[in-house]
Amino acid sequence: MIFLILALIAGAATILGGALALYTGLKNVDLRYLAGFSAGVLISTALLVMLPEVKGSLWAAGLGFFFLYFFEKLTIIHACQERECPYKFHHVGWLPVSGLTLDNVVDGAGIAVGSILSPILGVTVALAVATHELPQGLSMAVIMKAKYRGSKILIALFLAAMFTPLGALLSFLIPEAVFEHILAFAAGTFIYIGASDLLPEAHEKFNLKVILSVLLGGLLITALGIWT
Ligand SMILES: [Zn+2]
Repeated sequence: MIFLILALIAGAATILGGALALYTGLKNVDLRYLAGFSAGVLISTALLVMLPEVKGSLWAAGLGFFFLYFFEKLTIIHACQERECPYKFHHVGWLPVSGLTLDNVVDGAGIAVGSILSPILGVTVALAVATHELPQGLSMAVIMKAKYRGSKILIALFLAAMFTPLGALLSFLIPEAVFEHILAFAAGTFIYIGASDLLPEAHEKFNLKVILSVLLGGLLITALGIWT
């Protein structure tokens, strides 16, 4: 049941991100370092840790990548700052939260399946989930703030966050034969979020320290990957 605890912690990062946006000055601080670090962690986790475990189901990684691409373009769930969401006022509502919710189900299932295959793999996947849920929860709160009160936003983020442990619990229903497909699918979504959302966000302006943040995230996972 360790994966359920990991999924709860990773899901809580969504709420923490939202709370930081609502109740601290963090939203005004440049978040490019966080986005860069998160991108480094996500892409490295997918390529160096998850995909080597699932050689036979690389097609599922492609499916995860394009699934998230289509879904995101329909719901605008990318992790971006206020000034970088020109369409935000047209997309405020419950639809982006539903996108976050769906992403969390995939995250939770990835944590559970990873943990079952190897405990350190589960921890690494949970770390990758937590690092991208933080900026995702944060940007979601910033977007929703235009229309909803803080308490309402936190309830929405709490409900979305609950879908991470729920996704983990779903692993009880998943036959073992498709575990590798699930892990590959989650890896595909990680690559999409890292390369398509977080890296462009991090490099909005050129800054060498952002590159160092990306490398730091990548090196952390490389170090963890040695034990998987
Ligand atoms: Zn996620």
